[in-house]
Formats: sequence, structure tokens, C-alpha cells
Amino acid sequence: MYEPGPAVVDAVRNLHRVVNNAGATMRIVTAENDVTIGQPVVPDGVSGHASTDPRQPVFPPTEAEFESLETDFLESPELDAFKNRLIVQWPEFQSLRQCSIDILWKAKGGASGGKLTFGKCSKMPGLSRYYSREDFVIWIAADHVRNYAFDQVQLEALIYHELSHIGVEADEKTGELKWSIVAHDATVFFNEITRYGTWQQDLRILRQSYEQLALASGQ
Ligand SMILES: [Zn+2]
Repeated sequence: MYEPGPAVVDAVRNLHRVVNNAGATMRIVTAENDVTIGQPVVPDGVSGHASTDPRQPVFPPTEAEFESLETDFLESPELDAFKNRLIVQWPEFQSLRQCSIDILWKAKGGASGGKLTFGKCSKMPGLSRYYSREDFVIWIAADHVRNYAFDQVQLEALIYHELSHIGVEADEKTGELKWSIVAHDATVFFNEITRYGTWQQDLRILRQSYEQLALASGQ
């Protein structure tokens, strides 16, 4: 993926803020990207919550929105609808229909081990679960999504990734569902592949998936 320099990131951030504050959207089309930024104007008399069309573009809140409410997390019916649409759409998420999952925007995603954290999926511990009645909470980093000008497909892939962390097993005796956090299918350093190739089973599967994708897209 193209990595924009700090000046570009800054310019995009400012542009996004201006467009967003004006309640407008702006579409930027280049040879490699087709990005729409800003919040669409909600028609008069229609509340944002009621007009949640599952195909409506979803944009992260601005820094000002988090600041004005003095909160690190913001709910978004659009983001929630996006998540629900993925759960209904993909058979691999069928079991998640029985699971209660909250999804929120987080003001700052931060970084871990030198890598930006774009999202996180956590299982609710007992007491929080009792109060919130949610099994899992996913947060999506509003700042990173904004600064990297994620398009809708990238945002969708990010939500898909976080949903993939949710696993379930049925208790052998009681049949009761037990939810868990699933680790990544593969963890890898690029140099490792350069030096040793797909030396491990996980990496071989990763390579097969990639080759299938390349075949399907005719590359
Ligand atoms: Zn992950």
C-alpha cells in the first residue's frame, strides 16, 4: 500500500476536517485511489439514526466531535449497521448472530510494537459484561482511519478483521456456547519470507490464499 509522508497526511487531515465541518463530501479520484471524504448532509427532518441505509458511506467522527463530548469513544449507528451487514453477509460469521457485539469509534488508536493499531476486538470480562450485556466490544481508530483516508472497502476489511477475532465453541456436556478471542491465522516478518520462503504451514496457506486471489483477479 502507498505510504503517504507526514506532510500529505497533515494536508489530508485538514482537508477532511474542512469538508466534514461543512457537512459536505468530496470525492478524490487518482490513478490508484477513489476516496470520498466528509459526512453526507442528512436531509432536513430526517434524523441521522433513522436514515441508516446499510449502504450509506460510513465516516469517522472528527477530533472536534470527541473533544466536544469529552469522550474517547463514540457510538455510531452507521458503524453498527456496517458490522451487522457483514455478519449477515458472510457464512463464516453465522455463529456471531447469537453474539452481542458492540462497535465504537475510538478517538486515538495509538500504536503497539511500533505498528499503528487500527482496531481492537476484546471479550468483555464478567463484570463489564453484566453491566453492558455485550459479549464483545470492537473499537475502530477514528484518527488512523481519517489520517489514512480509508475508503469504504478498507473500513469494511478492518471490521471484517476484528469480527474474525471472535470465536465460539459449544460446551461438550451442556451445549452452552463459549466465546473466545481467536489469534491471527499467521504472524510473519517480511524478511523471514525473503530469507526462508513459506517455511511454515501457516505461511504456505497464506501463499495459497494469495495465489488464489491473484488468479481470481487475473494478476
Ligand atoms: Zn487482529
